[in-house]
Amino acid sequence: MSVIEVKGLKKSYGQVHAVRGVDLSIAQGEIFALLGPNGAGKTTTVEILEGFRSRDAGEVSILGFDPKTQGHAAREWRNRIGIVLQSAADAGDLTVIETVQHFSGYYSNPRNVDEVLAAVGLEEKSGALIRNLSGGQRRRLDVALGIIGSPELLFLDEPTTGFDPEARRAFWALIQQLRGTGTTILLTTHYLDEAEALADRVAVINNGLIIEVSSPAELGGRATSQALVSWRDGNQIKTQATDNPTSVVTQLTAQFDGEIPELTVTRPSLEDIYLTMIGGTHE
Ligand code: ATP
Repeated sequence: MSVIEVKGLKKSYGQVHAVRGVDLSIAQGEIFALLGPNGAGKTTTVEILEGFRSRDAGEVSILGFDPKTQGHAAREWRNRIGIVLQSAADAGDLTVIETVQHFSGYYSNPRNVDEVLAAVGLEEKSGALIRNLSGGQRRRLDVALGIIGSPELLFLDEPTTGFDPEARRAFWALIQQLRGTGTTILLTTHYLDEAEALADRVAVINNGLIIEVSSPAELGGRATSQALVSWRDGNQIKTQATDNPTSVVTQLTAQFDGEIPELTVTRPSLEDIYLTMIGGTHE
């Protein structure tokens, strides 16, 4: 079953054609990442799906509803969705726990507040005022507010910006845990390693159009791309691109009569592939 179904989505701001005909189909339980450079149209797309921006053309169905829906049906719909905006938490005079408790009151089936604070690693900061949190801690609070309502569908817009590496890993574990509960997740991120760690499928968007949708392992022909074998030969580093790295290494083993100096065998990373994909058209 499709949780997100988008056909021919378009949106312009005056002369700026931000989204120029986007199609998306995201299944229940899937973690789907939107990748693209600054200004590609990710936030515009996501905010239309969330019901925060109008569209010029196209069909959108989110959990079976058009985000343009108003009134009681819209409230019921919103109850099933969690959103982590680029910064949702207001720097007010409330403490962390008060804020999460307050948000939990908006939902008919909220998660346990203490559990959510523990899940985002903020239990020690539960009594702290929001305005005294660090940037990364604020972001974790944003994530807590996104998941407090037990959403069926979670939108995460650059969720780990400002996280230190340990917090990012902890966040990934939290998302994996949500995956286990069948939550569908639409993620935008600039971190290719994050997309690779979390996403079942990624869509690369550039200049308002989707260039490719695929699994991270297969994007841009990555799975079948050539390997690079590199080694030291005297005072030179040599590199050879090959479809058969094992036979190259076997030949080198014979040539060096054993250990090959500084041998590495690599394949293009998701980031290499992504940069090549957007390279030609990046503004
Ligand atoms: P980023 O990675 O920087 O967040 P993005 O992929 O989310 O970028 P959008 O925010 O969707 O990109 O912007 C797409 C294009 O639309 C950009 O050229 C941007 O300048 C323009 N744009 C976005 N919002 C508005 C607005 N409210 N009014 C005018 N132009 C806008």
